Order: sequence, then C-alpha cells, then structure tokens
Amino acid sequence: MSKVIVIGSGFSSLSAACYLQQAGHQVTLLEKNNYFGGRAQQLKKDGFTFDMGPTFYWMPDVFESFFNDFGKNVSDYYQIEKLNPAYEVYFGEQDSICLADNFEAIVQTFEATEPGAGAKLRKFIKNAEDNYDLAIKDLVYQPGENPLEIVTMDTMKKLPLFFGTIAGMVRKSIKHPKLQKILEFPVLFLGAKPTTTPSFYNFMNYADFCLGTWHPKGGMYSVAQGMAQLAREQGVEMLTDQEVTGFEWSGSQITAVNTKDVQYQADLVVSGADYHHTESLLPKSYRKYSESYWDKKTFAPSALLFYIGLDKKLVNLNHHTLFFDTDFDEHAATIYDTPDWPEKPLFYASFPSMTDDSVAPDGKEACIFLMPIAPGLKDTEEMRERYFDIIMERLERLSGQEVRSSIVFKQSYCVNDFVEDYHSYKGNAYGLANTLLQTHFLRPKLKSKKVKNLYFTGQLTVPGPGVPPSLISGKIVSELITKHETH
Ligand SMILES: Cc1cc2nc3c(=O)[nH]c(=O)nc-3n(C[C@H](O)[C@H](O)[C@H](O)COP(=O)(O)OP(=O)(O)OC[C@H]3O[C@@H](n4cnc5c(N)ncnc54)[C@H](O)[C@@H]3O)c2cc1C
Repeated sequence: MSKVIVIGSGFSSLSAACYLQQAGHQVTLLEKNNYFGGRAQQLKKDGFTFDMGPTFYWMPDVFESFFNDFGKNVSDYYQIEKLNPAYEVYFGEQDSICLADNFEAIVQTFEATEPGAGAKLRKFIKNAEDNYDLAIKDLVYQPGENPLEIVTMDTMKKLPLFFGTIAGMVRKSIKHPKLQKILEFPVLFLGAKPTTTPSFYNFMNYADFCLGTWHPKGGMYSVAQGMAQLAREQGVEMLTDQEVTGFEWSGSQITAVNTKDVQYQADLVVSGADYHHTESLLPKSYRKYSESYWDKKTFAPSALLFYIGLDKKLVNLNHHTLFFDTDFDEHAATIYDTPDWPEKPLFYASFPSMTDDSVAPDGKEACIFLMPIAPGLKDTEEMRERYFDIIMERLERLSGQEVRSSIVFKQSYCVNDFVEDYHSYKGNAYGLANTLLQTHFLRPKLKSKKVKNLYFTGQLTVPGPGVPPSLISGKIVSELITKHETH
C-alpha cells in the first residue's frame, strides 16, 4: 500500500483522493485553506450564503457517474433541482430571451426569433450530441500522454471539427446576432473565445440545451462538501490549514512533503494546486515548464466578482442572468489580445435565492455578479468600485428597477484574492483555456517528466477548466497512477 499525498482540495483533488483511496492507497489530503472545495469557496454573512466560485451545475451525468463509481448516488450527498428557465440573456432595456429547461421549447424560441432557425438548431444540436457522446466515450477520459490515445475510427471522422471554430460553425448556421450570442455562450466555460475554440466543442451546446442547468441546494459548495464526505467515508485523511511549502528528496524522487510545521512521508504525490504554483515549489532543475512557457499560454479569464445582499426581492430577472447588451468581441479583445480593463463589459449575475430559500433570509435576495477580465490586471479598490457602479447602473436600467438603495451587504473579489487564496497564476479564475493548441496531449501533463513520483490534476491539465472536467481529471490521474506504478 503506497502512501499518497494529495495537495489541495478543489474538485480535482477531492476526486483524485477518492479514487486513489479506493484503489488501495493510503491517502492524506493537505489543503492550505480552512475549508475543503478550492474555488468552490462559500461566503456566509448576515443570513446570506454565496458561492464565491462556480455557480452553474452542468453535465449532471458526470457528477452521477462519479458517485456511482463508489456505489453511491448524487442524492446520497446533496439535492439538485433543474432550473426553468435555465437562464435569461439580456440584450438591451427590457429586451431579453429566456432559455427554457427543455429542447423543444428552445427550438420554438429560436424559430420565433429567426424564422427557419428552429430546424437549423435541431441539426446543430444533433451534431453537438454526437460530439458529446464521442467526447465522453473516447476523449475526455484519456490522460493525454500521447495523441494516439484519441485516434479511433469515430474521432478521425471528426478531425475537421478541430480546425474550424465554434464562431464559424454557429454563424454559418444561425444569422440572428442574439441567437449567435446564445450559442456561443457555453464556450466561455472553456475559457477561450468562440473564434479560437474548435467547433468540436459545440458538445457544450448539447450539455446546455439538452442536459439542463441545475442548482444544488445550498449552492456548489454543497457539492464539494458531498465529495469531501465521500473521501472521508473512503478512509482519506483530510487536513485543512496545511499549506505545502516544499519537498524532501532522494534523487529525483520525493520522499516527504513539508508544510510549515509538519513533514508527511510520501511514496507518491498528486497536486491539484495550480500547476505553475506546484512547479514553483520544486528545485528549478525538476520543473518541466519554464516561466516563458506559462507566459505564452492562453489562460482562462480572471474575474471581478461582487457578493451582494439586498433587503428586498428583485423582479424581471432569473436565477442565472447574462448581460450581453455590449459588444462581446470588444470585451474579449481586452481579455485575450491586449490585456486591459474593458470599456463596456459583459457581465453575469446569479440570484440563487430566487430558487433556494436556504441562501437568504425571507424577503431578501442574494446576488452574485461576475465580470470576466484578463488575468494579471492591476487590481485596486478604485477599479473594483468603478465597475461596481457600471454593473449596478446597467442592472437597474436593463431590468427596470432600483437596486442600490436596498444593499445591506457587499463584498468584492478579484485578481489579488485569487492569488492570495489559491496561489493562482496571474489570478486566473478557471485555469488554462481549451484552445486547439491547448487541447488533450498539448496541455501540461498529468505525470511529471522530471520527478519520478509526482502527478498533477486539475483545471490546468487534462481535460480542462470547469467542475465536471475537474472531477474527470481526478479520475484519470488515479488511473494513470495505477498504470505507471503497478507495471
Ligand atoms: C468565479 C468562478 C466561476 C466559475 N464558474 C463555473 C461554473 O459556473 N461552472 C463550472 O463548471 N465551473 C466554473 N468555474 C471553474 C471551476 O470552479 C474550476 O474549474 C474548478 O473548481 C477547479 O478545480 P481544481 O481542483 O482544478 O482547482 P482549485 O479549486 O483551485 O483547487 C486547488 C486547491 O489547491 C489549494 N492549494 C493551492 N496551493 C496549495 C498549497 N501550497 N498547499 C496546499 N493546498 C494548496 C487551494 O487552496 C485549492 O483548494 C468557475 C471558477 C471561478 C473561479
């Protein structure tokens, strides 16, 4: 039985810890913060509960499959509810489209907006469904050690889809700008622009329109707590307030992991902390990727977030509401091309208390606002406040109501907090984007090339950013360890 140290307690680390313990290892998980869940951090204040990180629960099949691997169901750990509408998108003053919780209703919405678009959407989603099935069957559960893993008869037929982009595919089929924006939205979860994301990733549109948007009662933090409970039940030793600061060595092999006060013996180490940060804890000669490698990579955006408590209920808005009333390309250019604060930002708002009465006192509203920004931007209080005013003005004008006078709680979160809380490279919010040149075997590797017994998991490695991919990442690193360490 090997002694495995798992660093971090994000979704990928929790997943890896469960699978490795199940595979017969003796796992100890070391988390730097005082809670488990990584970016799924929770803020509780004055009767309000906020998810500080992820809020969209997509691909429920991946979560179910994770718990099934341990003979359990999602419902043994937390409750989920399908949202209807799934979300709403604002394009202007009192001008919005709601996306229903079923595909037939969405087809009707498309047809009503652009005659003929309903039939085109059916064709688009049929292709997206094929890609989803293929992605789950042949691609996302592969460890990315070499390109041959994903060469099958079926994947070869899809090769052209890796050289076209989502933007090209959407615009060829659907002409109405509002519908184009709706179809391009899921790409944002992959951390890149629709113009640089391979069209194969339209499988996210299938996830969006056909698998639904769900809400875990209590928020996404409940999901992380469910996974932490499963890890404990499996026998994982779970420790908080244990920031890993370095390693002990025998040649190119780690023999122990150091935190400030304790040394933990280790036969194997799996790090779910940001890849760049973990490598920075190694002597230089044991790092696989240089500073310039990281600097050249396309990172998913960072974000400016606000957690707001109101002493009234809001109208004309839905649990998830997107504000796409400004030019997406202009905002995206400030994230990916010339990093800067955007002039006219798009933003996203979540009002979980519209669905879940456990997250705000009666008659009150919990609000989360997220504005994507380039990683590494200078983050100051003045800048946060400037954008808070912009967001509030737009929210009030577009949804036609007064909001600012009802604020009873307010907290912000931005680049500096991502660095401080998670050791996040340039304060990225959700890892390394899934562009053509950062897909599968072209992503940072799960197994260290230079340290014999060090592995990585999480949103900077395979398969990519997002909660479901993080669960998958934990599973594939555990399978890779079984392959390498027992043969
Ligand atoms: C604001 C925001 C919104 C998002 N929205 C969504 C969404 O709606 N849906 C979705 O699917 N995904 C979303 N994501 C992405 C998703 O949350 C992430 O991809 C996922 O949670 C990443 O998990 P992880 O395990 O890779 O990393 P993390 O959650 O970052 O876990 C890494 C862990 O390592 C710990 N750590 C770091 N350094 C050390 C050290 N030296 N010693 C010990 N521990 C250490 C950290 O504290 C952390 O707990 C969002 C992310 C953010 C930030």
